[in-house]
Amino acid sequence: MALRTKLPDLPPSIFTTMSVLAKEQGAINLSQGFPNFDPDPQLLQLAANAMQDGYNQYAPLGGIYPLREVISSKIESLYGKYYHPEHEITVTVGATQALFTAIAAFVWPGDEVIVLKPAYDCYEPSIIAQGGIPVLVPLEPKDHSVDWELFSNAISNKTRMVIINTPHNPSGRIFSKEDMLQLQELLAGTDIILLSDEVYEHIVFDNQVHESVSKFEGLASRSLVCASFGKTFHVTGWKMGYCAAPKELMKEFQKIHEFNVFCANHPLQRALAQYLKAPENYTGLGEFFENKRDQFLEGLQGSKFRYIPSQGTYFQLLDYSDITVEKDIDFAIRLTVEKGVASIPISVFNKDQTDHKMLRFCFAKKEDTLNKATEILRTI
Ligand code: PMP
Ligand code: GLN
Repeated sequence: MALRTKLPDLPPSIFTTMSVLAKEQGAINLSQGFPNFDPDPQLLQLAANAMQDGYNQYAPLGGIYPLREVISSKIESLYGKYYHPEHEITVTVGATQALFTAIAAFVWPGDEVIVLKPAYDCYEPSIIAQGGIPVLVPLEPKDHSVDWELFSNAISNKTRMVIINTPHNPSGRIFSKEDMLQLQELLAGTDIILLSDEVYEHIVFDNQVHESVSKFEGLASRSLVCASFGKTFHVTGWKMGYCAAPKELMKEFQKIHEFNVFCANHPLQRALAQYLKAPENYTGLGEFFENKRDQFLEGLQGSKFRYIPSQGTYFQLLDYSDITVEKDIDFAIRLTVEKGVASIPISVFNKDQTDHKMLRFCFAKKEDTLNKATEILRTI
């Protein structure tokens, strides 16, 4: 049978590759981004209760109303923007499904979608699967700031969508208010849709604030904002998230959502609706991970790695150019096999796989794991 693949050039996921290698080698796994500690027992109990209480059948398409209501009030209290729970919020199967659905709903064959590189790996395959054309704009290699002139030059009359991600995976860089205003100005007067990946919205450090697109009316009115409970509540395996967008955009989003998944896991929605009512369950997250970042960086004192401290997310980039000229993929593999610490090479996320000699380390790990890892990294 002759098959025509929609994604001919897709390499195996680097997250799978490195996690499998880490397991095979018995290495400390700081590659794929997930915590190695347990979520709050109260959240687990709420999930167990929901199943025992009989919430085991389909939820409504957009998600259960109590969860949509509490998401709406969280966004309003944090960013001052009201999304109507009925028409403007959809609970999804992780942020990945929200991102894919948004792209499927709005990108037509031949449309261009601007993606800032390095980028999280799910955007480009989702664009290409719809016949869209990713237009890749590199971030500044040194500090991963946006070159807005380069960005502006990438906008054409074929640009249908722009994807941004703040706090940014893999760099840990956050967008400033000036970045947002710049973007708002560049998109003003166009029909370009903005897809904003904000899965690390609660993980921001050093007294900085998360600049959600929801705070900027000129952006919010053209945006779909995607979030992940997996990242916020240390439950990446639950694959629960949501999308918020103005009514006209959400209507199109839900048309695809309906025939993709129809609805997300019902009992987990019940648990999340309860748990999300207490803001202290997410407002302390920045401080929690800032301590982990600091522990990781303190542990690296005296090492040959160079870095700019991560501003958000639970990732830290390390520049190893004072250690070796090896390609980042080769060095990441050697570190895993010979030294027992797994990381993610950044070239896989870069335009043309450019290698700036950087590795990404996930610090969402127990104290003991971070100590063991940094003890090894200090000796390299
Ligand atoms: N976007 C970014 C930037 C991510 O790092 C991840 C990984 N959590 C996702 C989206 C996907 O989130 P989820 O696991 O909720 O699908
Ligand atoms: N978001 C996670 C990371 O960046 C990986 C998720 C996945 O394995 N696809 O590490």
